[in-house]
Amino acid sequence: MRIVLVGPPGAGKGTQATRLAEKLRIPHISTGDLFRANISRQTELGKLAKSYMDAGNLVPDEVTIAMAKDRMSQPDAENGFLLDGFPRNVSQAEALDELLKAEGIKLDAVLDLEAPEDEVVKRIAGRRVCRKDSAHVFHVTYSPPKQDGVCDYCGGELYQRDDDSEETVRTRLEVYHTQTEPIIDYYRAQGLVVTISAMGPVDEVTSRALEALKSGQ
Ligand code: AMP
Repeated sequence: MRIVLVGPPGAGKGTQATRLAEKLRIPHISTGDLFRANISRQTELGKLAKSYMDAGNLVPDEVTIAMAKDRMSQPDAENGFLLDGFPRNVSQAEALDELLKAEGIKLDAVLDLEAPEDEVVKRIAGRRVCRKDSAHVFHVTYSPPKQDGVCDYCGGELYQRDDDSEETVRTRLEVYHTQTEPIIDYYRAQGLVVTISAMGPVDEVTSRALEALKSGQ
């Protein structure tokens, strides 16, 4: 399957993408994770991306699209992928369409995770991520680690993402509404959008997502 995941920051895209990719046996491709990996390796791309990310803005399309294309052309993505955080505006969606068209392939679904704004703000403010593996995510109140600041799964250090500060979150939400939300209409016109609620326990959201993808509604 070829799936795009959309939803506001804090809706749980990363958490759900990891779980869905495992169940569907397709690679989870997160442009945010790819940028963060570049930042920790201190590459030129990482240096460029960091200034935009820290401010809560989108990294320019040219570099983002090139990076996403490169990742999608890896052998593990040949038979499917779950895109998390890409595309994030209409021109990226158009670039993805062109790329898929050139390969003679199509998206199967665009999964839209819905969550109320006050909830996503609470989720982001308390989010703590493992330095060793960004799929290991905790929340200081909703899912605290057994030991403060330490990952339950691998013992890695838990930290708050630079762009999870309250001020940056406001910008990220605004960017989501103005730039990313329009892609939902773009894909709705192609009959691809499946909307589910991202509220409730993580397992329930995953089941809801799998069910919705199966029935295509
Ligand atoms: P995420 O981990 O998906 O929340 O992304 C974190 C940050 O990385 C975003 O706030 C953007 O600054 C940047 N980013 C991730 N994906 C994209 C994208 N498709 N286009 C532009 N910037 C992106």
